[in-house]
Amino acid sequence: MNMQDIRAIAKSHKIDPAGLSKLDIIHTLQREEGNFDCYGTAYDGVCDQSNCMWREDCFEASKG
Ligand code: SF4
Repeated sequence: MNMQDIRAIAKSHKIDPAGLSKLDIIHTLQREEGNFDCYGTAYDGVCDQSNCMWREDCFEASKG
């Protein structure tokens, strides 16, 4: 997902994305939704949350 889409999602959740990295925005969104801020931690492309909307990006971010 590109930054423009992620910023739009943040704004729809009343989160100001200005100055935040992609990782920080997604972590903020995850916490705001009552979830763990686990984005970027799916070690080796493994996560059992198959419905996670961040899955593809998370696997990419987890590569380091
Ligand atoms: S795929 Fe989703 S649920 Fe799994 S670690 Fe990444 S952000 Fe968290």
